[in-house]
Amino acid sequence: MAGRNALFIPGPTNIPDHIRSAVDLSMEDMRAPDFPEFTLPLFQDLKKIFKTETGQVFLFPGSGTGGWEAAITNTLSPGDKVLISRFGQFSHLWVDMLERFKLDVDCIDVEWGEGVPVEEFAKRLEADTNKEIKAVFACHNETATGVTSDIAGIRKALDAADHPAMLYVDGVSSIASIDFCMDEWGVDLAVSGSQKGFMLPTGLAIVAVSQKALEARHTAQHTRCFFDFEDMIKTNAQGYFPYTPATTLLRGLRASVDTLLGEGLDNVFARHNRMAEGVRRAVTEGWGLDLCAKEPKWYSDTVSAICVPEGFDSAEVVRHAYYEYNISLGVGLSKVAGKVFRIGHLGSLNETMLLGVLGGVEMTLRDLGIPVEAGSGVAQAVDYYRTTRGQALAAA
Ligand code: PLP
Repeated sequence: MAGRNALFIPGPTNIPDHIRSAVDLSMEDMRAPDFPEFTLPLFQDLKKIFKTETGQVFLFPGSGTGGWEAAITNTLSPGDKVLISRFGQFSHLWVDMLERFKLDVDCIDVEWGEGVPVEEFAKRLEADTNKEIKAVFACHNETATGVTSDIAGIRKALDAADHPAMLYVDGVSSIASIDFCMDEWGVDLAVSGSQKGFMLPTGLAIVAVSQKALEARHTAQHTRCFFDFEDMIKTNAQGYFPYTPATTLLRGLRASVDTLLGEGLDNVFARHNRMAEGVRRAVTEGWGLDLCAKEPKWYSDTVSAICVPEGFDSAEVVRHAYYEYNISLGVGLSKVAGKVFRIGHLGSLNETMLLGVLGGVEMTLRDLGIPVEAGSGVAQAVDYYRTTRGQALAAA
């Protein structure tokens, strides 16, 4: 099909040309004497993205899932009691991994479209007077439903209960796109991947670890090898890795971090919020459709999951958009398969890219007989983007 595929899945995201060029390199010697001159500043600057001064960031070959595994195996032991809630496919997969690692999982099931039930967490933490809960897990941004949760609120609940449990956050589809404050929120393990807000190819698990969590590796009984923090700590200190690092991705990561810090994190977050709000207005006010996220407090600035009306199949929307208009949208996963389709609005995006996909979705919906008026969503987004443009420029 002529033209470019419009990639609007919630990761992997569009890679800006200069980052793609940064990755397009010859192989290099990862044991070169001057390699640390490249890696050591990179390790430091990554901490700015997580907003941590006291934590340490590890770069594992892998994806976000590998980052989860690294976080769990380095800091916990089989049988440890952990608290988590499930409200989408990714929080579900984290529960599944915890169970496979034989942790004692207290999982609170929440309706899909809502997020972490902070008050319920607070009650459980308060009731845990023997401090048996070793860890609290939270998915910051549930990519399957487009729901963002209140991590600062979980920290408040832990502090109010004077509870020592460590806080683990899945930031795979939030970090580098939605504000994330590791130190301020007292996050002990924050997991991300290269292919979303970092605008890189898939291939790196990016894991930030607090000093408390680093300490926990001395007592954690889980078997680990490839993901062992200890090996990373020893070799990273000299600017090297315990095994062959993905050097091209690391070079790309340098470009990504420079791009994010160059734009300014606050501007990056404001841009994502503005891009997302235009999409939300198109969906709700233009097309009259519902978001899967039940209330504005859950709205995600990186992905919108959109409900199709009863009697229609969202998988058909995704398929039709792909074959007819060369647009990649996110499918509905698991419980919401057939019910929602998703527009990813994270990474390197601007207004006209979003207007293109909104137009394509409108054509798709109309082709399939879903009653939306031509131009209705696009008009909402046009006006929103046009009238808020000055604000973004002032902030930039
Ligand atoms: N967590 C969230 C919130 C995600 O969106 C994803 C992937 O989309 C993952 C975890 C799994 O990450 P990966 O696919 O990089 O292993």
